Formats: sequence, C-alpha cells, structure tokens
Amino acid sequence: MIVILLGPPGSGKGTHAEEICQNYDLTPISTGNILRNLIATNSNVAKDVAEMMGTGELFPDEMVNNLVAEAINSSIQKPDYKGLLFDGYPRTVCQAVFLEEILKNLNKQVSCVLVFNIPDSMIVERISSRRVDKITGKVYNLISMPPPKEVIENLFQRIDDTEEVIKNRLNIYKEQTEPLIAHYSKSNLIKNIDASKEFENTQKNISLTLQ
Ligand code: ADP
Repeated sequence: MIVILLGPPGSGKGTHAEEICQNYDLTPISTGNILRNLIATNSNVAKDVAEMMGTGELFPDEMVNNLVAEAINSSIQKPDYKGLLFDGYPRTVCQAVFLEEILKNLNKQVSCVLVFNIPDSMIVERISSRRVDKITGKVYNLISMPPPKEVIENLFQRIDDTEEVIKNRLNIYKEQTEPLIAHYSKSNLIKNIDASKEFENTQKNISLTLQ
C-alpha cells in the first residue's frame, strides 16, 4: 500500500503518520523530517536549509524530488518492505508527476490520498502550541497532547511555527498544494478525513477509510 497524506500545516499529518505506519507496516517518508535532519547535521548546507525553512517557503522541486527518490530507493530495498506513507510530499503538481514516474518505473502506484480537512482558524492555534522533543523527535501539543513532565526540558518550538510564518505556509499550501486535490481526484484516489476532531476520533476515521 502506498498512501499520501495531504493537508495544510497543523492538520495533524505527522502525528497520525506514526500510528498509520505502525498499523499498516508502512515506511514513512516525511520531507519535512528529511530537511530537518539535514539541518541537524550542522554541515555547510544546514545553515541555508534552516534559513529557508524559517521563511515557510517551499524548497525547490528538484532538490526535494532527489531527496525523495533516495528515500524511496533505500526503503523498498529493505527486506521487510510492505509499503510507503508520504507525509508532506508531494506538495506541488511537479512533485506529484515526479512521484508517479518513479513509482511507475518500480511497477508501483499510489493506493490512496488522505486529505486532512481542518478550518484555518484551528490551524494557527494548534501550531502555536506545538512543541517537539529534541531527543526523540516526538511531537506534543501543550493543549491537546500535553508532554509528560520528564521531557519538558527537551522541548523546543520549530523555527517555522511562529504566527507570521504559519500564515505564509498556509497561503503557500492554498496556492501550490491544494491543486493536488483536483490532480488526484482525476484518478479517484482522494479520501477526505475530518482532521478537526480529537486524535483518537480522527485515527478511527482513518482506519475505517483505509480498510
Ligand atoms: P507542515 O506540514 O507542518 O507544514 P513539514 O514538516 O511537512 O511541515 O515541512 C516543513 C517545511 O519544510 C515546509 O514549510 C517547507 O519549507 C519544507 N518542505 C517540506 N516538504 C516539502 C516539499 N515536499 N517541497 C518543498 N518544501 C518542503
């Protein structure tokens, strides 16, 4: 099974990705995480990547496509490979076309695209209270998914989680990523998920949809 999670920033894609991967034995490919791992290397490119991510702008298609091609190749070579889950990719029509080409060459295709629907008003509120554990990478929400006391000192706020940058990311989502819904509708791959509900509720919904 090859699943794509599509939705605005803060719609819960990353949070649900973990559970979906466990339930269906899928390997996650999150371009946000791949880019954040690059930043963590402290290499020469790390500074440029961090600067760019701090603006909320999208990275060039070619760069992201190359990173994803690498991730797909290493994932499908693993002996326990069962399927893939894309979180944050594709984000443009160009990326979607690239992904289709790669999968076609591997005799594979996208099984479904889960679209996370959530009102804009909830997005800024959710992201502003998001915190990440720098040791484990686990994502918490100070309101809806409070971190346990012992991890509090490890928490940080993502550089692109400020109110101004969130608004920019939301505009970019509407301009560049939302057209993918029409793109995937043509092949009947879209499944809508109400992402405004509590975690358990949304997760149940996702499981029913993927059955
Ligand atoms: P979110 O879904 O919360 O916006 P991500 O972790 O998926 O966050 O992505 C964080 C940032 O990384 C994006 O705002 C963008 O700058 C960059 N990025 C991630 N995925 C892509 C992609 N597929 N194409 C271009 N840029 C990307």
